[in-house]
Amino acid sequence: MKILVVNAGSSSLKYQLFDMDTESVIVKGGAERIGIPGSVLKHKTKDGEKIIEQDMPNHKVAMQLVLKALVDPEYGVIRSMSEIDAVGHRVLHSGGDFDRSVLLNDEVLNICKKNAELGPLHMPANILGMEACREVMPDTPMALVFDTAFHATMPPHAYLYAIDYDDYKQYKIRRYGFHGTSHKYVSQEAIKYLGVPAEQTKIITCHLGGGSSIAAVRGGKCIDTSMGFTPLAGVPMGTRSGDIDPAVLEYLAEKKGYSLVECITYLNKKCGVAGISGVSSDFRDLTKAADEGNERAQLALDVFAYGVKKYIGAYAAAMNGLDCLVFTAGIGENTWEVRKMICDGLDYLGISLDPEQNGRKNDGSIHDISGKNSKVKVLVIPTNEELVIARETKELVEG
Ligand code: ADP
Repeated sequence: MKILVVNAGSSSLKYQLFDMDTESVIVKGGAERIGIPGSVLKHKTKDGEKIIEQDMPNHKVAMQLVLKALVDPEYGVIRSMSEIDAVGHRVLHSGGDFDRSVLLNDEVLNICKKNAELGPLHMPANILGMEACREVMPDTPMALVFDTAFHATMPPHAYLYAIDYDDYKQYKIRRYGFHGTSHKYVSQEAIKYLGVPAEQTKIITCHLGGGSSIAAVRGGKCIDTSMGFTPLAGVPMGTRSGDIDPAVLEYLAEKKGYSLVECITYLNKKCGVAGISGVSSDFRDLTKAADEGNERAQLALDVFAYGVKKYIGAYAAAMNGLDCLVFTAGIGENTWEVRKMICDGLDYLGISLDPEQNGRKNDGSIHDISGKNSKVKVLVIPTNEELVIARETKELVEG
């Protein structure tokens, strides 16, 4: 069975074609700068990368170009589109209407459109991706895999904000959480690695990348997570502030003459470690600058690591214990300095690192970095959101 996984962003459309018999990637790539001059499709097969520069005014044209590349006689990987058995779409927000992946039909598409206002940065692009695919491959079954779904098991005391309950009911204002496919994948991999029944496990998963979120996973189910109504909440991120006193918005609006929308854009794009350091949102730049003595870069790293550390403490309390701490995504998998900063001083929780293992370069496999006497297993697990999407799509299509 061949499954195409599609991840549509506002100006991009990433894809991976999986052979599900071996769960291997046949080809992957992405269209960039959709609707912007200079659009380009990068198509990576095992033989190398093909760069196709062509105007892509919208997602439909991008999707057509992706399919053309897949069947191209020279660098394509399939003979015809009918070889694609199903498509899995990554979708940001379920709006609480779906607690698991679903097959796409008109009704589901309408619910997604209704929920688009809950994720204004991502949902319109996700919907364009679905529509473009349906238009170009009308007879191929498609599944939607939501970033929020893994967090649907959170109990009300974790997902409710302390606001007027009627407003929660009417406007669906609550914590949803994001990066669900990643938290699900790495927590399941950790459970396999630990070799104990899922019900007995208490795991904290730290997805630390461009956006970062932490999840508390007890008995294989998410019971709390750091992102909230939107992916702006939680720990500080590359350019996002993370948790902040909401009264800052009014103050900021007054001082800088911002509208409310401008305040939110500021918190999304101008803050985080980039805002504190004035150097970069990229942790490779930050660690280098800090090493060279840049104090604000060091401060940004300190604020980030402290933010993650506090969530670890909170979630150990929420689960009444901790068996395993998992690091994943760009920073979690690669930036050993940050893992060290986060874990330093957590020995009262039974967490310690093996400095040599922690310093080892990530080779794509599960990597145990726990110290010899660490009661908590500390693991680096490379995430694979696309594989989860492909697996769930396969499951749904096979009924
Ligand atoms: P996104 O949320 O954009 O998918 P990623 O999970 O790719 O983000 O993480 C990007 C972050 O990971 C950047 O801050 C980057 O500096 C950091 N990082 C550190 N080392 C590496 C590395 N070797 N490769 C990729 N990203 C790295």
